[in-house]
Amino acid sequence: MAASLKEMLDFKGRIAKALKDQQLRGAIRFTADSLRTKRNAAVGDLNAQAAEQMSIGTFTDLRQQARKIKEHTLAHLDYYLTRAAEQIRANGGTVHWAANAADVVRITEEIIDRRNAKKVIKAKSMASEEVFLNHALEAKGVEVVESDLGEYIIQLAHETPAHIVIPAIHKTRRQIADMFGEVAGREMTTDTPTLTKFARETLRKKFMAADIGVSGANFLVAESGTICMVTNEGNGRLSTSVPPVHLAIVGMEKLVPTLEDLAVLYGLLPRSATGQKISTYFNMITGPRRPGEPDGPEELHVIFLDNGRTNILGSKYEETLMCIRCGACLNVCPVYRNIGGHAYGAIYPGPIGSVISPLLNDFNEWTDLPQASSLCGACTEACPMGIHLHDHLVNLRMDMVTQAKADPGFTRVMKLWMAAWRRPAIYRLMSKVGYLGMRMYAKKRDDGTEVAEHLPGPFAAWTNTRNFPPVVKRTFHERWADLEQEGKK
Ligand code: SF4
Repeated sequence: MAASLKEMLDFKGRIAKALKDQQLRGAIRFTADSLRTKRNAAVGDLNAQAAEQMSIGTFTDLRQQARKIKEHTLAHLDYYLTRAAEQIRANGGTVHWAANAADVVRITEEIIDRRNAKKVIKAKSMASEEVFLNHALEAKGVEVVESDLGEYIIQLAHETPAHIVIPAIHKTRRQIADMFGEVAGREMTTDTPTLTKFARETLRKKFMAADIGVSGANFLVAESGTICMVTNEGNGRLSTSVPPVHLAIVGMEKLVPTLEDLAVLYGLLPRSATGQKISTYFNMITGPRRPGEPDGPEELHVIFLDNGRTNILGSKYEETLMCIRCGACLNVCPVYRNIGGHAYGAIYPGPIGSVISPLLNDFNEWTDLPQASSLCGACTEACPMGIHLHDHLVNLRMDMVTQAKADPGFTRVMKLWMAAWRRPAIYRLMSKVGYLGMRMYAKKRDDGTEVAEHLPGPFAAWTNTRNFPPVVKRTFHERWADLEQEGKK
């Protein structure tokens, strides 16, 4: 069942639960590490190829080109949306505009009613997760089946995706075998061929019986009206070509102007997401089935989804609309790697989720998320679009204090802190007081280093899960002054 709003918003409770779950933390770290390593290798390969003049550029070149493409697209989004809509219609498709989640549900239900549809098969689509489409359709009595293997697993578990790219990142083989065994009505072994064979056989029947196929889009090319899907399973192709109706839910920021631009963005996505040079499948869908064509849907519908995106457009957060949902920022984030996706409570987890969830939803309900970061900047470094995630997290914290219903006590403390640190004399005094205070809790370890293992009062929140290095006796300013003196000698 879907989590209640209260459950979704109990952030600290979910973090505490996740931190105690060693199996979850182990599973997330294992996969995130593997994805990060493969991504780094793929970036290295691309750079090596560029040095040999065998690619269209280094990773940095592609990132710069991609940013330019997206900056241009976002600056002229009205034009490119109009262009894409004209092309989709010219190709024989139908275009719908959804201002919010309710619009997507209404439009989908209208299509379902007109077609008297009973069964829906879905390819992976974060946009459909964002609008809770499955729950709405199931409440209407429609059978909805997720066909991406990871999505199918979490659908059986009645959960939301724990990662943008790997939805079932937190599940072990044993858990998956048990869930599949329940559906099959028999004991299931945990080997990959057995599990995938079962999923393939089960889902194949669902593709053939479906009345409507629902997908998202990784990109939509405005000049041709082409829906592009990057997948590693054949489910994307089957979901969009076997059922008589294909419905694509497309966030309006997914547009790219031309096929040439697409090549740049596609060069970044599989490398950043899974460390692949290219994905196993790359589907380009331009209109429904034409006369004489052997397959493809009779009807093709594209729903362009706003759902808060136009609020971000033109704001200081606009570059977040460049996100290509590769998940690379999740894999390197020390917070995500320890608590996993569900602890965030939002559909989009990790650094990008902590930024866009408050922006796409009611800001006051998601003020905790921008705090879920050490501001180490690893996310920004990994992001193929160069989105300054850590800067946006800081800006959101500022907005939280100035605009949202932030805890007044917290706001007062932060204002006092700011006032004190702006005055050098008070800053120096606080450093001395901090040093003396920490001496009471510092413990010497065998290797000679000192740490504080238990701090009192509100500081205990830090030492409950990690040690605190004691404040050093000589401050940075004092050491700097010494070095300057030495330099003059
Ligand atoms: S913010 Fe960047 S790294 Fe994170 S999912 Fe989006 S494109 Fe990928």
